[in-house]
Amino acid sequence: MANSLLKYYFFTCPSKYKSMSAQIISGKAIAEDMLNGIKSRISQRLSAGKRAPSLAVILVGGDPASSIYVRNKRLACEKVGINSIAYDLASDIKESELFALIQKLNEDDTIDGILVQSPLPPQIDEKLIIEHISASKDVDGFHPYNIGRLAVRQPTLRSCTPFGVIKMLNSANINIKGLDAVVVGVSNHVGRPMALELLLAGCTVTCCHRHTKDLQGNIARADLVVAAAGKAGLIKGDWIKPGAIVVDIGINRLDNGTICGDVDFETAKERAGWITPVPGGVGPMTVATLMENTLLAMELRGV
Ligand code: NAD
Repeated sequence: MANSLLKYYFFTCPSKYKSMSAQIISGKAIAEDMLNGIKSRISQRLSAGKRAPSLAVILVGGDPASSIYVRNKRLACEKVGINSIAYDLASDIKESELFALIQKLNEDDTIDGILVQSPLPPQIDEKLIIEHISASKDVDGFHPYNIGRLAVRQPTLRSCTPFGVIKMLNSANINIKGLDAVVVGVSNHVGRPMALELLLAGCTVTCCHRHTKDLQGNIARADLVVAAAGKAGLIKGDWIKPGAIVVDIGINRLDNGTICGDVDFETAKERAGWITPVPGGVGPMTVATLMENTLLAMELRGV
């Protein structure tokens, strides 16, 4: 059924679909396709006598979750043929030492992307570190220059998770233009650029955060919910408008070691039209978009 027709049914006759289970959007499968595409673009570059892109991945300290994220990013580099250069630094490194390393990487013409995994230890000001990375090598898309370009509808290097969400919805043939979207969470890295991406895509966007008075009411009115609060089970299934699209960015580690999102998946999938799982939803899209940004950063520098 055409996407527009599906939308018509979901948003005009929701009761008809009350017992219908949502379509699961497999970010994992979409990301896999993206990685294969990036791999062949890099192979073509190599055949044309050009070099492979290279990404400097900086990990400070041994935070277990950060180490897993960094490992996944390095594995993705290996898979697509990006040369990843590991900087595993001690947790007591001085801010000035990290500045010096970033400066060296900024000036190194063989480095196309620089990634500093967050969170950083308390002696290091993350905002200053991000601003110190050259905007043209900011493959995470966190630099105020790159966020600003997105805000003025001239995106260049776009924040990986929000842009990954847009790519995922596009790949699943879900047309979001004109939808009422609610983003839960307004962090600089995720929620805010997500709201800008949705605005750019033609949604009417509401941002909810920890001071929002009526989270449930806002979600109940939304055609598209994007959850990025980092609170397990914050969004209950029966808050979801029947047929709505639910994208769960949250990654929460429960005491029993399992990972879940911010949305109560089991109940939400009985009301939503489309929903992303955690794990296997947005996470792989973030990594694939990072790979694409690294290749793009290289191309934009004319290397
Ligand atoms: P953050 O802590 O910086 O921001 C959380 C935001 O949620 C804040 O704006 C806060 O106001 C809001 N919030 C907190 N409690 C709330 C509540 N009860 N009601 C409404 N809003 C509330 O976190 P972040 O870095 O933006 O990450 C958010 C989540 O996304 C985390 O679980 C993180 O692990 C996950 N994440 C996932 C990916 C991915 O690839 N899937 C990438 C980055 C972050």
